[in-house]
Amino acid sequence: MTETYRLVIGGELTDAASGETFDSIDPSTGEAFAAVAKGGSEDADRAVRAARQAFDEGPWPKMKGRERAQYLLKVADLVKQNAGALAELEARDGGHTIRMAKGADIGMVISTFRVFAELAGREDDERPLPRSPASTNWMRHEPIGVCAAVTPWNFPIQMAAWKIAPAIAAGNTVVIKPASYTAITTIELGRLCQEAGIPEGVVNVLPGSGAAAGESLVASPMVDKVAFTGSTEVGRRIMQLASANVTKCTLELGGKSAAIVLDDVDLDYALDGTLWGVFFHNGQVCSAGTRLLVDRKIHDDFVAELAKQAGAIRTGPALDPASDAGPIVSKTQLETVERYVAIGREEGADVLAGGDRAMVEGHDGGFYYQPTILGGVRNEMKVAQEEIFGPVLVVIPFEDEADAVRIANDSIYGLAGGVWSGDNARAVRVAEQLRTGTVWINDWHMINPRYPFGGYKQSGLGREHGEIGFDEYREVKHIHVDLGGQARARHPWWDLTVPKRESPAAPGPEAAGSKPGG
Ligand code: NAD
Repeated sequence: MTETYRLVIGGELTDAASGETFDSIDPSTGEAFAAVAKGGSEDADRAVRAARQAFDEGPWPKMKGRERAQYLLKVADLVKQNAGALAELEARDGGHTIRMAKGADIGMVISTFRVFAELAGREDDERPLPRSPASTNWMRHEPIGVCAAVTPWNFPIQMAAWKIAPAIAAGNTVVIKPASYTAITTIELGRLCQEAGIPEGVVNVLPGSGAAAGESLVASPMVDKVAFTGSTEVGRRIMQLASANVTKCTLELGGKSAAIVLDDVDLDYALDGTLWGVFFHNGQVCSAGTRLLVDRKIHDDFVAELAKQAGAIRTGPALDPASDAGPIVSKTQLETVERYVAIGREEGADVLAGGDRAMVEGHDGGFYYQPTILGGVRNEMKVAQEEIFGPVLVVIPFEDEADAVRIANDSIYGLAGGVWSGDNARAVRVAEQLRTGTVWINDWHMINPRYPFGGYKQSGLGREHGEIGFDEYREVKHIHVDLGGQARARHPWWDLTVPKRESPAAPGPEAAGSKPGG
């Protein structure tokens, strides 16, 4: 009998109003392993009302930041205590290799809650503004209100932490809708937030489809901010929905990040880094280095060695500690990857490694694909312009630095980029010319909740992480206090001819209700 995971609304685990559930498929086997309550429009409304009430009437937004910080630290501790079970769920639900789930996912969730606890605890809610002789002024940070968070399937528990932690640290309440392929660990994180004693209605989890639960949530007039991570296509729709109520929006969208390999590089280091940059989690990573730009002088040797090493990556079931790469998240996504590789072939690319489904013994129903490298690619090809979101690298040679920068920037996306070089000054010169929110030099995927992350161009709006990311969840209020009633004197042009009010007579002792002599 499979377990059923339920919605988290107003501090309670609850079924969907319709009573419907959907199956969660283990992509390593292709079989259902759990059921999830399927939230719809009515549930979205219920969840938003719970969050609204917790914001308008509950203690959370009024608490001191340092008090809220204690709750976030408690969540981090609970995640640590439950690390093994959460990692296993992430492996089964999303196909994360168990090594990655334990080593990367859970650690990132813990550090995200700890970093935002630290930011909440700074008590920088009020900051003085420059002095004026006639007034005193200060700036005050306040929570925005009810946040609607919508997340993708590729890093479910991490994405949930990236949304929940800053939102609640700043004093907001939140309703989060995870992607249907991978809803379970977000529900579990919501449950741990209740266990940590966070007041009811502050964190609500709403699994369900994008079309029903997602649209109702984002369009709700009771929502004050939308934080979305997902594809650029759905991001456009989110902006449209949010525009009806001019709801504030941050968007973390797709990418087609270029990794530039300069000719002065340490080859072994760059080969290893390139494989990590693109094949980590099978390329199902928004910031994956999916376009490899290599100096023509070293191109042929570099690419030949890269193809050899890619062929040695062990693809297998997510729960097997020997697997370097797990399955693709779903059958649909596996078919998308196949379709793009076929398009690449039609466009004239050479398949230098992979190019087919991977067969994993004893797991015939799983969704496995070989790490794939396409050579002979031109940047205008579809496989170089569109996000594939699978283990597919396209390789493009360049002539000189300027050519590399031109090709890298020739994309609708601007999420991340990177430079591999033995000369830091040269690498920085190239990095500064890339139109992307993050550039890694001799590294990749180094996302840290202390440093800003987000996209230029169609990769998004706003930033997550760090102080800048925290401020995306705070309103700014300017308070002005006049000192000495000179306001009118400061505006001599405001010379109204209206008769002035006569000064009332000074109250006598009787009027003041006091007796002579006290
Ligand atoms: P997606 O855009 O299909 O879905 C994302 C979420 O939006 C899901 O929860 C989905 O149910 C919901 N949704 C879909 N239609 C909706 C609608 N009309 N209204 C409201 N919600 C709706 O993305 P995905 O396939 O789950 O994830 C992959 C994408 O996410 C890739 O494009 C990837 O680059 C992007 N991503 C970006 C970042 C980043 O930080 N920039 C991080 C991870 C993933």
